[in-house]
Amino acid sequence: QNVLEMRNITKVYQNGVTANRNVDFSLREGEIHALAGENGAGKSTLMKILFGMEAPSDGEIRLRGEGMRFQTPQDAIEKGIGMVHQHFMLVPSFTVAENMVLGMEPKRGLGIHYEEAVRMTQELSDKYQLTVDPRAKVESLSVGMKQKVEILKALLRGAKILILDEPTAVLTPQETEELFKQLLVLKQEGHTIVFISHKLKEVKAICDRITIMRSGTSAGVFDMADVTEQE
Ligand code: ADP
Ligand code: ADP
Repeated sequence: QNVLEMRNITKVYQNGVTANRNVDFSLREGEIHALAGENGAGKSTLMKILFGMEAPSDGEIRLRGEGMRFQTPQDAIEKGIGMVHQHFMLVPSFTVAENMVLGMEPKRGLGIHYEEAVRMTQELSDKYQLTVDPRAKVESLSVGMKQKVEILKALLRGAKILILDEPTAVLTPQETEELFKQLLVLKQEGHTIVFISHKLKEVKAICDRITIMRSGTSAGVFDMADVTEQE
């Protein structure tokens, strides 16, 4: 069952660079899907299109069978897509709970009280085993902790499909191991995950399938079980 289908995606940037050329990309409900390929292969561009950060020059996006065209990240978020960037979009001097609800209040027309934000953060943190202190200031947190807050933020906004952009690049080996456990919990809870990475070893450890991009096109989709140790 494909929860997402991107078909024939082409993206030509204003400077004439063709970052994506007739790319097909699909996600099965509940899978962890690796998006791999060398620097410049077009991975980020494809995910920016999915998250409403870039407009495709051509192609089609279907979410649960329904045609989509996201103009902004807000559109994508409203349809249950979440993105965890390599560079965190958190306010360092605010607490975790404050960061969690930042930007949500006006949208929903309700002022979220601090204690309510703390409670919501704690609840999500417990449910997904993403252990953070809601009252800690973000500037006091490790990179791994900040990443957890980013994931929790996406979950609080209703993300069912989570895009993680090279999440392990900034992590220690222990933090990476912890992240993998958390991704498996997310999967168990029914979330679908896109894991952008070029470390095949890591990908093999937790991903169900892999799409390999090369020079702006998809060079193939494989079941992880069929991928050998080369590359
Ligand atoms: P990857 O994520 O696989 O490293 P990108 O999607 O970032 O690949 O980049 C694909 C190609 O598009 C590269 O040649 C890159 O320089 C180019 N590119 C990326 N973003 C832009 C942009 N905003 N404007 C012009 N060219 C871009
Ligand atoms: P990251 O890999 O952390 O996303 P990048 O260095 O790939 O950072 O890109 C930083 C920003 O510059 C992105 O918004 C990207 O779209 C843009 N960018 C990347 N390559 C190019 C390029 N060749 N021309 C113009 N903008 C680019």
